Amino acid sequence: MNIILLGPPGAGKGTQAQRLQEKHGLVQLSTGDMLRAAVASGSEIGRKAKAIMEAGDLVPDSVVVQIISERLDDPDTAPGVILDGFPRTTAQAEALDAMLAEKGLNLDAVVELTVDEGILVNRIEKRAAETGGARADDNVETLRNRLAVYREQTAPIVPYYNGKGMLKRVDGMAAIETVTAALEETLGLA
Ligand code: AMP
Repeated sequence: MNIILLGPPGAGKGTQAQRLQEKHGLVQLSTGDMLRAAVASGSEIGRKAKAIMEAGDLVPDSVVVQIISERLDDPDTAPGVILDGFPRTTAQAEALDAMLAEKGLNLDAVVELTVDEGILVNRIEKRAAETGGARADDNVETLRNRLAVYREQTAPIVPYYNGKGMLKRVDGMAAIETVTAALEETLGLA
């Protein structure tokens, strides 16, 4: 089973993807995590992505499309993947469709974690405090830009998948366990 978790920064995509990975053996593919690893390693991709990520903007589509395409070829992803933070633009969604078709893989569901934007700012501040500022983009100023980028560039993929009849919605503001249970129910994993 291959699924996409959609939702703005702080919606809980990463937390829920990890929980589904642990409970159901699906593999979390977080482009944000992969890009942060690239920045930490000082690779060429990392050097190019660093300033873009710190500003809360999007790295070029071609970069993330290639990262995901290569990762999907790794045998450990065979049980299925949870795409977390990808796709983030309509062009990425179209590239994903093409790459899945080419690799003979299916997309089973797209789940949007719905949120209250006011509460998101509090969540991100909490995450920044808990991780000791480990993420350079976890601050209120960058968050405002990340939310604007989400609205302008990522939100349009919601109708893209809705038009294909693939979109499901889960309330991302509920308690972590409740959100996981709702996801399992929606995905037929319960
Ligand atoms: P995330 O951990 O998903 O919030 O991603 C952190 C940052 O990595 C984002 O603010 C972007 O700068 C970059 N990033 C992650 N995924 C993508 C993507 N699919 N397309 C473009 N940029 C991305």
